[in-house]
Amino acid sequence: TGPGSGATAAWQTQCPFCSVQCKIRLEEGPAAVGSGTALRARGDDNAASEGRLCVKGQNAHQHAVSRERLRYPMIRREGRLVRASWAEAIRAAVKLLAASSERYGPDAVGVYGGGSLTNETAYLLGKFARLALGTKYIDYNGRFCMSAAASAGSKTFGLDRGLTFRLSDIPQADCIILAGTNLAECQPTLMPYFNRARENGAAIIVIDPRSTATAAAADLHLPVRPGTDAALAAGMLKVLIEEGLIDEAFIAGRTRGFEELQERTLGQMTLAQTAAVCGVDEASIRQAALLYGRASTGMILTARGVEQQTDGHLAVREFLNLVLATGKIGRPGCGYGAVTGQGNGQGGREHGQKADQLPGYRSIANAEDRAYIASVWGVEPEQIPGAGVSAYEMMEKIHRKEIRTLFVMGSNPVMSNPNVALVEEGLAKLDGLIVADLFLSETALLADIVLPVTSYLENAGTLTNLEGRVLLREAVRPAVGEARDDWDILCEVAHGLGQGERFRFPSAEAIFDELRRASRGGLADYSGITYERLRREEGVYWPCSEEESSSGLMFEQDFAHADGRAVFSAPPQTASAPSKSVSPDYPLILTNGRVLPHYLTGVQTHRSPVLEAREAAAFLELHPSAAKRLGVRDGEWVRIESEAGEFYARSRLTPKIRADTVFAPMHWGGVQNVNRATLPELDPHCKMPGFKTTPVRVSSCAAP
Ligand code: SF4
Repeated sequence: TGPGSGATAAWQTQCPFCSVQCKIRLEEGPAAVGSGTALRARGDDNAASEGRLCVKGQNAHQHAVSRERLRYPMIRREGRLVRASWAEAIRAAVKLLAASSERYGPDAVGVYGGGSLTNETAYLLGKFARLALGTKYIDYNGRFCMSAAASAGSKTFGLDRGLTFRLSDIPQADCIILAGTNLAECQPTLMPYFNRARENGAAIIVIDPRSTATAAAADLHLPVRPGTDAALAAGMLKVLIEEGLIDEAFIAGRTRGFEELQERTLGQMTLAQTAAVCGVDEASIRQAALLYGRASTGMILTARGVEQQTDGHLAVREFLNLVLATGKIGRPGCGYGAVTGQGNGQGGREHGQKADQLPGYRSIANAEDRAYIASVWGVEPEQIPGAGVSAYEMMEKIHRKEIRTLFVMGSNPVMSNPNVALVEEGLAKLDGLIVADLFLSETALLADIVLPVTSYLENAGTLTNLEGRVLLREAVRPAVGEARDDWDILCEVAHGLGQGERFRFPSAEAIFDELRRASRGGLADYSGITYERLRREEGVYWPCSEEESSSGLMFEQDFAHADGRAVFSAPPQTASAPSKSVSPDYPLILTNGRVLPHYLTGVQTHRSPVLEAREAAAFLELHPSAAKRLGVRDGEWVRIESEAGEFYARSRLTPKIRADTVFAPMHWGGVQNVNRATLPELDPHCKMPGFKTTPVRVSSCAAP
């Protein structure tokens, strides 16, 4: 990093907008018209994206230099957020946190993190909550992103790592199933890997209720009814078993639980019934199963389409059953991948931001794990609180006034939670809301104290991409205004709370060194990774102990369960429709997701002029036949109502969506926030809400 040679100054950085973490060469020089900067971004060579950069990466720097960046702390006085000094803001934050804790006990304070934070900040946030605040209530927005795949991977393999293979292995696969993942819009720079696999003769199968850009590049598209992915995968397994396409040696030597699954599968609904439940023709399900079963190598990737359901955990496990039954894991060209969405969706879930987890994927309920982390932190195990609750459950606790003060870092919970009305009501009841962010997000606008943080161009830290590759991102620009690094703010508040001893870090690297010690011997072991090594090598895969580094290909010999075996799942199956289904009052299924130019709740990408110009408002995709029935014309305003609430968008008619399904992007707030309609039901295994399966009704209306 640092100024490059020649007339043009240049720096190397990483795109913050998805889990690929493409490298960027940022240069001074003629920028895109209307970008508002004198900087331009080009793809820089790296193993993950091979030098490619999508439109988000090409414009990612614009928000960082936006005039809307928060430049100084603010405190609410007489109803208005007004400028304050850092000393005043920290003092006020400490006072709020301490007051709730003293009056109602430490669990009256909640901490809410994010999957875009660096590993160092994610680690420190967990330590901050549990030691400086002494609260058990910490969770993060990754609950809405990776929790179903994470819990399914942990139960099946004994370990949750996004991809069990290297990106460079993809072209070796003979068949690839992409279930509920729209890579072409969400991780565009990965598409060439799949195109190369196809050129090598691979069959690509896409399972998605929408005919996305990813589906357009597939050999077979199964437009599944939202909420029925588990049934679809179970139907495919039935074909594999009946056709003798299972790997008996692999099942016998490396797995547990197949007999039970086989018994269930043979007694479950027929393929015709599966086809009726899933809304996909029987021949396509059979064809998909045969293509995958007959291929000598194969991969299955899932993302939020499968996972963001109230049975997301079980749905992922049904796909993992296919992987195990065919022995397609642990060798080149094979494996399972959960396509992480957030910039640090992988690392963000490893180091202790989750309600039930300690650093290194250690369990907060396990006495040995607690004792080890307590020794690293220099406290007694009893000083570490027990498990808290998931992100949305924290919102419910806030609404019930059990949590009185909330500390938010790198997240926008008022937009990303389901059942937004309850979240808004709850946040209004808080004694104190402290938000650390780059901008006045929808959540920051409600805060009592707003703390400005540095952007990805201004702070150093590590991030772990979707294939488990740990990457170092250096600071390349000075902080804007008085903005400070997230970790630095945490240390300062901890000092104010009288916990300074354990929060004395001169740099992100010093935090990483403690994280390495905390992860040593854990499932996500980073102990052999150093900044010095990351500067020398182009990312390092975990697990990486001081003695041994991973090749990136997982489970070649053993799985991570104590007996080395992977575990099948055999939940009961019936021919009935999924539990959250449509009714005469709410006849359509609402699914939500991303569009190419935007990231998460849009706090950053709405401030990037070029990205905002590409897509500036919410819309509702609707099939022309459904629109005709409802009397909705293309481009007019529609109201979308569910049992939880309503939001508004302009209609966008397209034949590329099922007639029983509507789609809205998740990047807009206010009355356009799709999560005003999302129901609060959670998956009992992982507490994932059903973002993809909300029964709704749609009607045309005047502009809201
Ligand atoms: Fe790469 Fe993802 Fe950024 Fe696009 S959004 S440039 S794919 S990291």
